[in-house]
Amino acid sequence: MGKGDRNDTIRLQSMRAALDRATLTEALNLIEAWNFKLAEGSTPQFSPTIGCAINAGMPWLRLHCPGCQQTTDLDLRRIVRPRDYPITALKLTCEAMCRGLKGLSENGRV
Ligand SMILES: [Zn+2]
Repeated sequence: MGKGDRNDTIRLQSMRAALDRATLTEALNLIEAWNFKLAEGSTPQFSPTIGCAINAGMPWLRLHCPGCQQTTDLDLRRIVRPRDYPITALKLTCEAMCRGLKGLSENGRV
C-alpha cells in the first residue's frame, strides 16, 4: 500500500456518495413525474423501471381495478423481474379481487 491510499479511498467514497445522490435524485424525479402525469389523468409517454422505484425509496405500486373498484398495493421488491424491467410492462390482473375478469387499470402509482 502506498502513501496516497487513504486519500484515494476517501476520494472514491466521496465519488460513490455523489453518484448515489445523483441516482436518488434522478429516480425521485422520474417517479414524481410519472405520478404527476397519472394524477392529472394523462398517460405518461415513459415508464419508470422497477429499479427506479426501489432506488427512489418508493417500492410500493398502488393498483386500482376498474372491474371491482378495489385498490391494492404491490411491493415491487417482490416482483421476479430484472430491475430494469418497466413497471408498465408488468402483466397484472385482478386475481385476488375479481379473478382478473376486468384486468387492472394501468393507472398504478408508485
Ligand atoms: Zn377486480
